[in-house]
Amino acid sequence: MSDERRRCQAKTQSGSQCKNSAVYGSTYCRTHQDQPEPTPVPTKTVKAPDSPPSDTDVRSEIERFKAFILGK
Ligand SMILES: [Zn+2]
Repeated sequence: MSDERRRCQAKTQSGSQCKNSAVYGSTYCRTHQDQPEPTPVPTKTVKAPDSPPSDTDVRSEIERFKAFILGK
């Protein structure tokens, strides 16, 4: 049997797994047990409805305007 299951499943700030052993009935050590579990970051696919025009958009717009003023 692997010893891994009894290992704390929390991750340290450096990103490595916690080296403490988990307390009985938990997957976390005593240190991490008291802390709230890290909530997974929701993947937002919603785009901002009114995103400002990018620089290139503005530039092409200006070029078009120039061409218009100069009589094509
Ligand atoms: Zn831990």
